[in-house]
Amino acid sequence: MRPVKSAGDFVETNCTKCKALTNHTIVAMIAELIVKVECNVCHSVHKYHPPKEAKAVKAPKAARPAGEPVRRVKKDPVLEAAAEWDELQASFDPERAIPYNMTATYRVRNLVLHPTFGIGLVQKVLPQNKIEVLFKDGRKLLRCG
Ligand SMILES: [Zn+2]
Repeated sequence: MRPVKSAGDFVETNCTKCKALTNHTIVAMIAELIVKVECNVCHSVHKYHPPKEAKAVKAPKAARPAGEPVRRVKKDPVLEAAAEWDELQASFDPERAIPYNMTATYRVRNLVLHPTFGIGLVQKVLPQNKIEVLFKDGRKLLRCG
C-alpha cells in the first residue's frame, strides 16, 4: 500500500505544462484521492493524473466498440463446409446424384444422395472402403463397397 498523502505533500507526477515528470505539491484532495496538484517547476495548477501502471491494473478492458470486425480465433469446420457446399451446389445436377448405398463404389466428384444428409459431393476416396463426402451439414465419412 502506498502511504496516504495529504494536501501540502509532494507527489511526483506528469506535469501537463512541462510535459515531464516533476515534483508537485498537492493542492486539493478528496478523501485519499489527489485531485489537484501544483507543479513545483512551472507552478501551474492542474488535475492530478495517476501513474499509468496504477491505472492499468484498475481499469477494466474497454468494451469492443460496435462495428469493429470480430476476429474469429478458430474457424468452424462445419460453417466452412456449409459455405463450400453452398458454393458448389450451384454446379450440382441432382439428376446425376447416385443414391447412397454402402456397397456401391464411388469416385471423387461423384454426387451422392444420402437419405439423411441430402446431396453431397465425394471429395476423397479413402482406404478401407470409405469416402469423404461434403454435405450441407459438413463433411462426413461414409462406407462404400
Ligand atoms: Zn510544470
